[in-house]
Amino acid sequence: MPALQPARGTQDLLPETARRHRRVGEVARDCAALYGFAEIATPIFEFTEVFSRPIGEHTDIVSKEMYNFTDRGGEEVTLRPENTAGVVRAVLSNGLTQSTPLKFFYNGPMFRYERPQKGRFRQFHQIGVELLGVPQPQADIEVIALGQRILDALGIAGNVALELNTLGDPESRAEYRKALVAYFSARKADLSEDSLRRLETNPLRILDSKDTGDLRINADAPSFDDYLNEGSRDFFLRVRAGLERIGIAYRLNPRLVRGLDYYTHTAFEFVTTDLGAQGTVMGGGRYDGLVETMGGPAMAGVGWAAGIERLAMLIAEPPAPRRPVVLVPIGEAAETLALTLAETLRNAGLVVELGYSGNVQRRMRRADRLGARAAVLLGDDEIAAGTASLRDLDSGAQSAVPLGELPARLDALYG
Ligand code: ATP
Ligand code: MG
Repeated sequence: MPALQPARGTQDLLPETARRHRRVGEVARDCAALYGFAEIATPIFEFTEVFSRPIGEHTDIVSKEMYNFTDRGGEEVTLRPENTAGVVRAVLSNGLTQSTPLKFFYNGPMFRYERPQKGRFRQFHQIGVELLGVPQPQADIEVIALGQRILDALGIAGNVALELNTLGDPESRAEYRKALVAYFSARKADLSEDSLRRLETNPLRILDSKDTGDLRINADAPSFDDYLNEGSRDFFLRVRAGLERIGIAYRLNPRLVRGLDYYTHTAFEFVTTDLGAQGTVMGGGRYDGLVETMGGPAMAGVGWAAGIERLAMLIAEPPAPRRPVVLVPIGEAAETLALTLAETLRNAGLVVELGYSGNVQRRMRRADRLGARAAVLLGDDEIAAGTASLRDLDSGAQSAVPLGELPARLDALYG
């Protein structure tokens, strides 16, 4: 039988990587709490309609990346490709629309059928926030400030830049769309095949194309700035002024459009050049039309999502786990005593490894591999005297310690 393989685009998070992921998640959750965002967890799969309509059938996500399947009861379900639609669905299902503003933080796996490469997987993980019910620019400023704070706290703000754009209100967007369609229609012969398709379905997305031919055409495309109505222009100015007031640097990127259909006004990304082609670590914006699209009341929303894999690659090595104490019992009586002693020491908050089996040398080698701080050797003589031999593995010093004094002596060793 051939060796079992993980499914393409999935990966095992071995302890070292899992520790990086956990660090990202914990730092983000702590920062989010400072802004009053509470953690929410929605199901990993939902009825397909939760995603398909709100995200938009012409987006890459819905048209080619969703993990759809029919379950045994004949229901059409989808592994969530992102979590904004799930959070809004949860708000509606739980009747929370009267309790705005709502502020949620989440952390969990997402699924997209993509071509796997560095920083791009089929099962990946996102942290994200959603702020619902606040139509004012303060909300945009706060969620961006929270994103910035997380990158700061992770120690990677220096490698990441904030790019900012506005997609205007629906009226401005419709005007701009018309202008884009006119511009690109006159240049159809030079557009990539993907962009020809987008011209029919989602012309704004052409601006996001990585194709070199498209890039040339995009360079002279009409600018959104010329199509923003006064309200949209004013909204954007207020977002920018707020960011400047709290010292958040950004650069304007008029080509920044987000992949999902439901964005209005503010769109932003935190990008890096340290990860090759997968340079966006965090992306978000305002989505005022989404809640209504999903059958709820008119309700503003703004949020972002960030890829944990990409952030985890950028951060420095997280603090190492605490070094253990290794118990090395020699003989049957000692083995029995070691079990209870281990529990006693753990009650005192120490990390304890049992030396399990093998001769003393082997167990000491294992203690070394674990990076243990101390070893507690238990033999028949020690037990008879009610003591243990405590060995400081950094200095090599060893002394006999009464069993009852072990927790205090170990505490002192750890400093
Ligand atoms: P990209 O342009 O890289 O495909 P996207 O616009 O599809 O990104 P979003 O839907 O905005 O990404 O998701 C937010 C963040 O989630 C991204 O900026 C990225 O960090 C991360 N992300 C998205 N798709 C993947 C994936 N397949 N694997 C790993 N991380 C991902
Ligand atoms: Mg994508």
